[in-house]
Formats: sequence, C-alpha cells, structure tokens
Amino acid sequence: MNNMADFFEGKDITDIRTAESLDAQDTLAGLRQEFAIPTRGDVAGDKTVEANEAYLQEPCTYLCGNSLGLMPKQTRALVNEEFDAWSRRGVEGHWNHPYNRPWATVDEQVKDHLANLVGAKPVEVTAMNTLTSNLHSMMTTFFRPTQDRYKIMIEAKAFPSDHYAVHSHLEARGIDPTVGMVTIAPRAGEYNLRTEDILKLIEEDKNIALVMLSGVQYYTGQFFDIPTITKFAHEKGCVVGWDLAHAVGNVPLQLHEWQVDFACWCSYKYLNSGAGGIAGLFIHEKYAKDTSRPRLAGWWGNDKENRFEMSPVFRPSEGASGYQQSNPNVLATISLMSSLQMYEKAGGIQALRAKSLKLTLYLEKLLHATLESHFKADHIRILTPSDPERRGCQLSLEFPERMMDVFDGLHAQGVICDERKPTVIRLAPVPLYNSFGDVYRAVKCLEKVMGQVYPSP
Ligand SMILES: *Cc1c(COP(=O)(O)O)cnc(C)c1O
Repeated sequence: MNNMADFFEGKDITDIRTAESLDAQDTLAGLRQEFAIPTRGDVAGDKTVEANEAYLQEPCTYLCGNSLGLMPKQTRALVNEEFDAWSRRGVEGHWNHPYNRPWATVDEQVKDHLANLVGAKPVEVTAMNTLTSNLHSMMTTFFRPTQDRYKIMIEAKAFPSDHYAVHSHLEARGIDPTVGMVTIAPRAGEYNLRTEDILKLIEEDKNIALVMLSGVQYYTGQFFDIPTITKFAHEKGCVVGWDLAHAVGNVPLQLHEWQVDFACWCSYKYLNSGAGGIAGLFIHEKYAKDTSRPRLAGWWGNDKENRFEMSPVFRPSEGASGYQQSNPNVLATISLMSSLQMYEKAGGIQALRAKSLKLTLYLEKLLHATLESHFKADHIRILTPSDPERRGCQLSLEFPERMMDVFDGLHAQGVICDERKPTVIRLAPVPLYNSFGDVYRAVKCLEKVMGQVYPSP
C-alpha cells in the first residue's frame, strides 16, 4: 500500500463531507444494502440518548463484526428454503433437494468459497464442527509429543479457549502443562509481539513440537507474519498451526503457499454465518493422503463413495474432508454459504482488503485528529499496530481509567462495539457493510462521551 500515506492528503478528515465523498467513491458501498443493520432503537433501547422516532429508526453504527458479523439479508430466505426442503421432502432431502443442495453433500456448497478465502486448494479445506473442537481435532493429529519435543507454544494472551484446549491436550498426554505450555508475551511496556521475539523463542526452546498462534490477535488486532513464522518454525523442526478466528474474511491469506500445516477458524465473526455457525478447517495438501497420523474420525470423514455402506473399516476422504466427524449442520452451512456469496460479490478478499486498509486508517487518523488532547492526557491509547500491514480492520482502544463509562456512553448513542474488561474497547469497521460515515459517526460519538467523562477543567 505505497499510496496509503497520501490517500488522505489534502483532505480535511474531520469534515463530514470527506466521509461522504469517500463513501461516494467507494465501489463496494452498495454491499451495505445486502445486510440487516439493527436500528439504534433496537440496540440502545431505553438507554438511548435521544428518544425521537426518526433517530431511533436509523441504523445503528455497528463496528462489531469482529465479534458477531451482521446477517446478510438473503440468509433468511436461503435458510427458509432448507425448512421448505425438510418439510416437503423429509429424509429425501439428502438426495432429492428442491433447491439442488442435497444434504448428503451440503458441505460442498462452501468448499470452493472457503478455499478462495484462505488461499487454499479445495482439497485442503472443509467446513465442520466449531472452532475449539477443530483445534482439539488438529492437536490430536499434529501434536505428536516425543522425548525431545513435547511442548506447545501459544501466546500468553491467547483467547482463553485456545489455552484450555492446549492445556487439556498436554494433560491428556501426561505432560505437565506448566512445563509443556510455552507462552510468548510482548516486551514490558509493549502491546504487540515482535516477530523477532517469536522466532527467538522458537530457536531457543528445542522442545517445542507445535507452534500454534493466532493469525490476527483477538485482543490487540495484531496481524502476525504468518509466512515468516511458519517457515522459520519448520526449519527448526516444529509443526505449525494457526487459529484464524480473527483473520479469516478480514485479511488475505495464502495458507497453501505459506506451507501452513493446519489452520482452524470460526465463521460467526467476519464471516457473518450467525452465532455458533459452522467452523472451518485447513490441512495442507502435503497431508492429503497421509493416514499415518491418528485422527478423531467419524463417518462423515469416510470416503463419500462408500460412506453409506456403513462399513466398520474407516476409509478417509482425501484431505481436510477426511477429518469431518459428523454430518454438518445444514442450516449453519447454508447460512455460511450465503455470506460467502457476499465475498464473491465484493470481488474477493483482496478487493475488500483494499477498502479495509483505508477504512481503518481513516478511523485511526480521525481518532487522533479528534481526540488529540485525550491522547496527550493518556485517557486513551491505541494498542493495535500502527503499520496497516500488521493489522486487520480492528483497532483496540485502551481507556486506562474509565472504559465502562465510555462504552456505556457509546452504546447509548447506538454505537455497537465490544469491551474487554478492564480497559479495552474494540472497534472493527468491516469493509463489507461499514462505511466511512459509520467511522465518522463513531468517532463523533466518542468525542462527545469523552467530553462528558472528562469535563475540561
Ligand atoms: C472467537 C474465538 C474462539 C471461539 O471458539 P468457539 O469454539 O467458536 O466458541 C476461539 N479462539 C479464538 C482465537 C477466537 O477468537
């Protein structure tokens, strides 16, 4: 993004007309119409700052796609078609489906889309289970502790579920988690991990068997250098898996080319599949025919050709599909398909990333321009890396003293973001449905709240 620096050159970013003209030039702006955006009245309820009807009917300012993506409007109709199929065909829907999405192969509806999104071949990906259960499944397969290599490396502040999963695998193999779990934290006084420090730890601790980090850190929004870390860890003899919960649908990925061993992600964040949606799995092609490792097998991982022969002998499908356990939830899969179609409509993740880089840079610049005195007084800090290449769309803001007051004040104005107690608010303008106008309004609302929380002397 060489031209990013001067993208806002000569524009008064604090002027609402700048936001309006950026939205007018945005070729992806039309996608916003495809999503159901809750109204201010519906989200702020009784706590709203203004009670007039017109204000309450306006769409809220939703900057929370990092936590739960909004619903594509077409999802309702597509899922309804599945109810229709069920009601009209019963079990026959597995083979004879009125909308040509037979349930026996419903996972194929999303396979190619997922492959495009993460830079993989179709054989390398599948939709299945949920994120944490996929992490468990992958650790069963790829964490093969030996006398010399028996540790798993994760971030000290990894999402708790990942900690619990790693902890339980170490325990299950009789390894003391206080010894077997190697954690990496930012340097004192810093918020983000330095790649050099990650590499150094991998180099120094010769007992690490598996490196399992997140692609984009859920708390800080840092986008890790996946290819560099993966390559280095491989050279040092480690297996490398990535938790892409906050990376998928947010930043471009090239999992195949980067030689990532495995990756897992959920689909209800940036992928807008709805709460608890079906998760995703990547396993590199080099393992596609490898049956030497143990796996958590189930009938849906059996070769499609003879899955219904009900043989007690497991014959896995090639690639990621061979790791499927149960028949996938059809409603969740179709809901995911609906959202993945939005990505195609946008022209793919690269097109969205180009907008995302501008949107988040606009947010960052506008925060600094609008809240300069509060930054100086240390009422607010930005934790996320300032290098656009090292972050996704999310900015994590730290409010060292009054975070909940700020959060409540934003919420009352219909600005939906999320808080991580005790001090952090995450704002994520997503390129599929957020506008420069959303960013402008969020920052204006924040300015107002900060003025109330910190009245000038
Ligand atoms: C959201 C998230 C999870 C959630 O796991 P589920 O199994 O989908 O409930 C796990 N890990 C990370 C890093 C996440 O961001």
